[in-house]
Amino acid sequence: MKIIMLGAPGAGKGTQAKRIAAKYSIPHISTGDIFRANIKNNTELGQKAKTYMDKGELVPDELVVDLIMDRFKEADCANGYVLDGFPRTIPQAEALDKALTANKEAVDFAINVEVPDENIINRMSGRRACVGCGATYHIEFNPSKSEGICDVCGEKLILRDDDKPETVKNRLSVYHEQTQPLIEYYSKKNVLKEVDGTKDMEEVFSSIVDVLGK
Ligand code: AMP
Repeated sequence: MKIIMLGAPGAGKGTQAKRIAAKYSIPHISTGDIFRANIKNNTELGQKAKTYMDKGELVPDELVVDLIMDRFKEADCANGYVLDGFPRTIPQAEALDKALTANKEAVDFAINVEVPDENIINRMSGRRACVGCGATYHIEFNPSKSEGICDVCGEKLILRDDDKPETVKNRLSVYHEQTQPLIEYYSKKNVLKEVDGTKDMEEVFSSIVDVLGK
């Protein structure tokens, strides 16, 4: 099963994608996580990506497309995947289609997690990420057991630079300009499914399961 998660930054795509991956035994591929791992390891790719990410801008298509095509070659992608944060532009979606069509494959579902902008800004300012393993929390909706400390690895939790309010506003305008057109793109391909992302995490997940099948 090949699934794409659509929705604004902070709509909860990542949380839902992780649960989908666990339930349907497919890998969760987050381009944002891959970039953050590269930044942490100070790779050349990480250094290039960081300059865009810190400003809330998109990393250039060529870099992202090369990265994702390499990731698809790994053995765990044989039965599909759930993509979180890719594609984010029409050229990225076209590159994905081209690669899939070459193998007589296609995207099965594009799930749009819908959340209005005003909710997004509130949500993102409460988001905390672990400096060690990248796990994410929310001070109100999904707090860690001990304040400021990661449940998974015990490292410190921080507000990521790209979750700061000025950056969030920029990310939202980038989203509306460059990523929102993908909703129509996948709707025309008859694979678009909309879910209400303002509900609590469990309800959102159960509407996704209704779409994907038990
Ligand atoms: P995310 O964790 O998915 O919100 O991604 C964090 C940041 O990584 C984004 O704001 C972009 O700067 C960059 N990024 C992640 N995925 C992509 C993509 N598919 N295309 C361009 N930039 C991306």
